[in-house]
Amino acid sequence: MSINFKSFIKYVEERNPNEPEFLQAVAEVTEDLIPYINEKHPTWADLKILERLVEPERVISFRVAWLNDKNEVQVNRGYRVQMNSAIGPYKGGLRFSPTVNLSILKFLAFEQIFKNSLTGIPIGGGKGGADFDPKGKSNMEIMRFCQSFMTELYRHIGPDTDVPAGDIGVGGREIGYMYGQYKRIRNTFTGVLTGKGLNWGGSNIRPEATGYGLLYFVECIYDNLDEKIAGKTITISGAGNVAYFAAEKAIHMGARVITLSNSKGTLHDPDGLTLEKLVYVATLGRDLEKYTKKYKTATFHADKRPWQFKCDIALPCATQNELNEDDAKALVKNGCICVGEGANMPSTAEAIRVFHKAKIHFAPGKAANAGGVAVSGLEMSQNNLRQQWSSGKVDDRLKSIMLNIHKTCVKYGKEDDGYINYLKGSNIGGFIKVAVSMKAQGLV
Ligand code: GLU
Repeated sequence: MSINFKSFIKYVEERNPNEPEFLQAVAEVTEDLIPYINEKHPTWADLKILERLVEPERVISFRVAWLNDKNEVQVNRGYRVQMNSAIGPYKGGLRFSPTVNLSILKFLAFEQIFKNSLTGIPIGGGKGGADFDPKGKSNMEIMRFCQSFMTELYRHIGPDTDVPAGDIGVGGREIGYMYGQYKRIRNTFTGVLTGKGLNWGGSNIRPEATGYGLLYFVECIYDNLDEKIAGKTITISGAGNVAYFAAEKAIHMGARVITLSNSKGTLHDPDGLTLEKLVYVATLGRDLEKYTKKYKTATFHADKRPWQFKCDIALPCATQNELNEDDAKALVKNGCICVGEGANMPSTAEAIRVFHKAKIHFAPGKAANAGGVAVSGLEMSQNNLRQQWSSGKVDDRLKSIMLNIHKTCVKYGKEDDGYINYLKGSNIGGFIKVAVSMKAQGLV
C-alpha cells in the first residue's frame, strides 16, 4: 500500500475540523514522511503508523475553578494531550495563555513527539495547559490557579507516566506552585515536573537550555558552512525565557543582537545589545519601550515584528505563526541566510516555502529548540539518581545533544545539490525511532 499526501491530509482534516494549527503541523511533517514511507518502509503504511500517530493516545480536558482576589469564582479549561508514548513517558510543557485551545495543544504535542525523539532521550510526546491569562494576575491568584489546576491534573501524570514542564506563561514560579500541590496530594517527592527550582530537584542550565541550545544548533549550521557566528547580526523576536538566553549566548559568541520584541512591538538597538543591557531588559517586564529612554540610539516600533530589520540570522522565539510569507520575503531580500526557530512553529507554511526556495538555512523548532526538553530529560535522570550535576556537565551534555540533532538532520535532510533541508531531516530523523517502536509494540 502507498499513501497519498493529499488524501491523507483530507482524512486528518475531516477527523479534526476547526483545528488549523494541528493540521498545519501534520501537513508540515507528513509532506516529508509520506514519500519516505512509500519508498523505504511500505509496510509502515499497512500498519497505519501515520494514522495512529495523528490520533492522540489520550486527551484530557477538565474544569479549573478558582477564586480571584475579589473572591469571585473564575472558571478556566485545563488540558493534557498525551500524544505518543512509544519511546518513553509523555513529556512536554504546559502553556497558560488565553490563546490555548485543543488545536494549539495538539499541534504542540504532535511536534513534541519528533523533537523529543531527536534528543536521543527516551521520552514520548505530550503537551497541556489552560486558557488562563497570567497577565495582570496577582501572585496569590497565580498560586490558587496552579493549585486548582494540579488538583485535577495529578491523577493523570507521574514520573513514569507523564512529566509536564513549562511553556509560554509557565515558568519557575508556576512549576513551584504546581509541584507543591502535587506533593501534598500524593505525598511523594518525585520528578513529576521538570523546570523545578535548583534547591528542590531542578537541573542546572534548565532555564537557559532552550536559548543556549538554539545558538549551539546555529553554530553547527555555521561550522558546516565553515563560517563563524562572531560578527554576525541577529534579530530575535520575543523577550521571554527563550529569547533572553538566546540573546545572552549570541552575545557570548560575539554576535550583534539588534532586536527583541513582545506583543506590544519591537525594540531595535542598532548598536547591539550587551550583557549589561540584557540585565536591564530583565527589569523592564512588559515595558520594552522604556529601554529607549536609557539607550538613546534604540527605537521602539509599536505593533511591529523584527523581520524588516537587516540581519544575517533571524531567530523567532515568540510564538506560533509569528513569521509569515511577507516577513520571509523581507528577510531574504535583506540578505538573511539563516533562520533558527526558538519557538514552536513560528514560521507559517508559506514562509518556509520562501526559505526553502531561497536555499536559506532554515532550522525548524523541533530540531533547533529541542535543548529545553533535552535538559528536562537530563533533569529526570538526575531525579531518578538523586543527584544534581554541575552546570558545566549539563551544558556539555546539551552541546553534544544539539550536535547530534544536527548530524541527524544532515543525514536525513541532505539533498542532491548539497543543500540541507533541516525540516525534512528532523521530520524523518525524529520519526524513525518512533515508528520502529510502534511496530515492535504491536497494535496499540
Ligand atoms: N515547552 C518546552 C518545549 O516546547 C519544553 C518542554 C519540556 O521541557 O518538557 O519543548
